[in-house]
Amino acid sequence: MQIRELKDWIIDYKKPLVIAGPCSVESEEQLRKSVLPIIDHVDILRGGIWKPRTRPGSFEGVGEKGLQWMSSLKKEVSFKFATEVATPKHVELALKYGVDVLWIGARTTVNPFNVSELASALQGIDIPVFVKNPIHPELSLWKGALERFSKAGITKLGAIHRGFHTYEKKKYRNAPFWQIPLELKSEFPQLPLICDPSHIGGTRDLIEPLAQRALDLDYDGVMIEAHTDPTHALSDAEQQVSTSTLLEIVSNLKPRDASFTEKSYLDQLEVIREKIDQADRELLEAIAVRMSLVEKIGEFKKENNVAIFQISRWKEIFKSRSEWGKQLNLDDEFTVDLLRLLHQQSVKKQTEVFNMIEDEQNHSNE
Ligand code: PEP
Ligand code: MN
Repeated sequence: MQIRELKDWIIDYKKPLVIAGPCSVESEEQLRKSVLPIIDHVDILRGGIWKPRTRPGSFEGVGEKGLQWMSSLKKEVSFKFATEVATPKHVELALKYGVDVLWIGARTTVNPFNVSELASALQGIDIPVFVKNPIHPELSLWKGALERFSKAGITKLGAIHRGFHTYEKKKYRNAPFWQIPLELKSEFPQLPLICDPSHIGGTRDLIEPLAQRALDLDYDGVMIEAHTDPTHALSDAEQQVSTSTLLEIVSNLKPRDASFTEKSYLDQLEVIREKIDQADRELLEAIAVRMSLVEKIGEFKKENNVAIFQISRWKEIFKSRSEWGKQLNLDDEFTVDLLRLLHQQSVKKQTEVFNMIEDEQNHSNE
């Protein structure tokens, strides 16, 4: 994919890129009051014009008249405006009223038919497009959507991480699964990666810590929902912050990479990385030792006609290791996941040993 850097098309770009504004444009007055106080502190103002709502009957956006309010406000003050487009008609209207940046919502990214239609509608048009992750944790759909826009000639591309739907509702409205956007970034290092802590968190108090976490992971920017009167917002009232809180959050955010260009930080980083390399080496050597013991026990079980899997031993392993993990301050869920993986590999190895001995016996019978 041919992707242009943010600094090529954002005037005075300085990390982090800040996109902020209301979840939805609701009225001309609400738009003015949500935009004017923050205009000098954000790079791009956001506002949903068409809202993808799960159930019918809820507020579905003001549509074209919102674009008229936005374009008349642009005659008074200068700003870049971003909105979500989900159909070619949205694209046509957004372009007609001078929307500067488009984003593709999570409910659209999941559908390759929709994405193709949007990409065709944008063929040959030089407008920035940010693609939100699909609703469910499937990296290939996210990549596929980005590739479709890239093929249509869009070079000002970006990805927005807004979290993933899960049935288990824990702390977050949408589980972050940070490894997915990080995998995307490692495959396309030049692709700007933006975090949307509002849709991940779902509540106001989680916005700042999530945004900072993203910057700690070297994201390029954030997209935050801010409203003049968040508690009375017509959509996503629990997660929108007030315009004054937004300004506080933006001034508190610390981009992390700048200090790493200094030599002393780089040296220290190098020392820690070397220790991590060493620890990983020892970890793999210990796993290799464990695997050779597994092979031995496989041979022993086979010779003595004992089943590979014994539930009592399995239970004992999980119980004792989980205790050891806790004593070592390891997260219990992590310890259990790791053991499950080791145990799976161990059963696989022992099965191979069983089959191998059988093969040998078969051959010697010949
Ligand atoms: C939004 O940004 O307001 C929105 C609807 O987002 P998502 O597509 O992430 O649900
Ligand atoms: Mn929203």
